[in-house]
Amino acid sequence: MKKLNLIYIALFAVVFSCKEKVKASKVEKKIATIDSVTVKKHLYTLASDDMEGRMTGTPGIEKAAKYIENEFKRIGLKTYDTLKDYRQTFTFTNRRTKEDITTSNIIGVLEGKSKKDEYVIVSAHYDHLGIRKKEGQLDSIYNGANDDASGVTGVLALAEYFKDKGENERTIVFIAFTAEEMGLVGSTHFGKGIDASKFIAGINLEMIGKVPNSGPNTAWLSGFDRSDFGKIVQKNLEGSGYQLFADPYPKYNLFFRSDNASLARLGVPAHTFSATPIDIDKDYHQASDEAETLNMTVITQTIKAVAKGTESIINGTDTPTRVVLTEEEMGGKKKKKE
Ligand SMILES: [Zn+2]
Repeated sequence: MKKLNLIYIALFAVVFSCKEKVKASKVEKKIATIDSVTVKKHLYTLASDDMEGRMTGTPGIEKAAKYIENEFKRIGLKTYDTLKDYRQTFTFTNRRTKEDITTSNIIGVLEGKSKKDEYVIVSAHYDHLGIRKKEGQLDSIYNGANDDASGVTGVLALAEYFKDKGENERTIVFIAFTAEEMGLVGSTHFGKGIDASKFIAGINLEMIGKVPNSGPNTAWLSGFDRSDFGKIVQKNLEGSGYQLFADPYPKYNLFFRSDNASLARLGVPAHTFSATPIDIDKDYHQASDEAETLNMTVITQTIKAVAKGTESIINGTDTPTRVVLTEEEMGGKKKKKE
């Protein structure tokens, strides 16, 4: 009888612990992933003809802005600073056409757990060149799939990933910049309003949809030697099978040609990740920059590598060195030649 009692007790314990396990798994949070199905959805939506090439100041880019806002809301991001929604709206004068354009950066925030006042930016530009009619050209929509719907896709995928993971010690500020193609206008506007000393790093994504010259599972970083950001990323990627290299096109001056530059000028170690052989890419700034020319596996793998590579910065264990520019680079002296 005693033995039987013991069996009953043991049985009860097993059943009870199973129940507990079921309960525990029910409250478990969503598994953080970056999957190619979601990546494809973001990319094909942003690069669709419906968005008419997303030129700043047009109804097409407004559709893209709404899509990004809706995604930020679905993911559960907060608004930035004193803004009451995800839009940082401002008006600027287009330096080419002299017309005034009102437009918005789209900004969502994932608050840090222990280092709330230390910000890491994850950004890409959501504008492109719009519609340009050229004689004899059938397709007039410049979809900008690689440039830079692929980068915005990365921003959205990383926002969802880090939100579901819920482990970021530092605050992550996700930004879709406007009017990059009109002269880094959106990022320059954002930079004017910040206390740069609070910004630990800038992770900018540009054209991450093709296999670069360095081969599959690789990307390159602009301004690699201007801070130790790149070295930190390389260390975090060790053993992952993915490699980061320094920008192979120093003569193109790419460090100053994307939105990272607006923050780097303020001293923020802000760099651009890219995975495209731009020296031979036929689609760069052409109507042929379509979603179909991109490789979903490359985009997905690159976004995953960015997540892994920047993990220690987001978790607050690594702090990259600041960028120091020369007076000439700061625009203090006259440029030599355009
Ligand atoms: Zn671009």
